Amino acid sequence: MSKLTNPTTQYSTENFPKQYQEPPALQNQMDPLPDCGETSYAGSGRLTGRKALVTGGDSGIGRAAAIAYAREGADVAINYLPVEQPDADEVKKLIEAEGRKAVLIPGDLSDEAFCKELVEQANTELGGLDILALVAGKQQAVKSILDLPTEQMEKTFQVNVFSLYWTVKAALPYLPEGASIITTSSVEGFDPNPILLDYAATKFAIIGFTKALSKQLAEKGIRVNSIAPGPIWTALQISGGQPQENIPEFGKSTPATPIGRAGQPAELAATYVFLASTDSSYVTGQVYGITGGMPTA
Ligand code: NAD
Ligand code: MG
Repeated sequence: MSKLTNPTTQYSTENFPKQYQEPPALQNQMDPLPDCGETSYAGSGRLTGRKALVTGGDSGIGRAAAIAYAREGADVAINYLPVEQPDADEVKKLIEAEGRKAVLIPGDLSDEAFCKELVEQANTELGGLDILALVAGKQQAVKSILDLPTEQMEKTFQVNVFSLYWTVKAALPYLPEGASIITTSSVEGFDPNPILLDYAATKFAIIGFTKALSKQLAEKGIRVNSIAPGPIWTALQISGGQPQENIPEFGKSTPATPIGRAGQPAELAATYVFLASTDSSYVTGQVYGITGGMPTA
């Protein structure tokens, strides 16, 4: 029998210590460490023999998806920024511990040429590609539009939005019938925070991209869906995603969630698996909120 747990107390509800690292931040230096399912996710062969590319796979939500995919029987390529190598090395070990192939492809998704190289290398080294989990993202909170640098706006749109077009364009010739594309939007794509003016707009854009692409690719037998996380304890948040004053009560009161605590990356893994697997064969163009109860409509 599976243990019945109260979701409000399933993870710590203690305040988080304030902490800042330069973005993109190393997860392995966070306090407390996020739970990406390293010791808890149990697979059941739902993705045996599948070949997945996960962007942002070194840490946070992408790491949780990468671990779960490997435990479900998939070979996994992960992308991340070169400075995140220590986090990526941990993920490689976890994937290989499942007897699955792990391919590490560092590089910057704001560069169109790199997005193409990433897909080419993942396809070659995995011997095919049938799951694209596009999780990487950039978030920097700025209180006033007057202080929002154009350079930040451009980078946030390049990483969060343009890279999806570039990656999917490069991957499409390789994706077989039955392949699945999963984007990562946000509760910010429904109810935007005033201090995330550029980031929130990218998350609205990702939802539009996902819905339109799903209609374009359905006839090819390729499904496209999105996951919209709420406040999740990850490196993104402590590296400028939130102002430091929001860190202690992150997910409790800043922002407030009905569940009353921040989510952990591990709590998203099963949905990344579901949307990649044939269990979701009649699901496309949808956005799944995993938000601690924050509305996504
Ligand atoms: P994270 O910092 O662990 O992961 C984000 C990853 O994005 C980084 O590990 C990094 O590898 C990658 N990245 C950033 N800029 C890049 C670039 N230029 N090139 C290549 N890779 C780059 O944080 P996370 O919270 O797990 O973020 C994963 C996704 O979840 C993001 O799209 C984020 O917007 C989304 N999200 C997070 C939350 C949250 O509360 N943590 C809420 C809603 C949505
Ligand atoms: Mg990271």
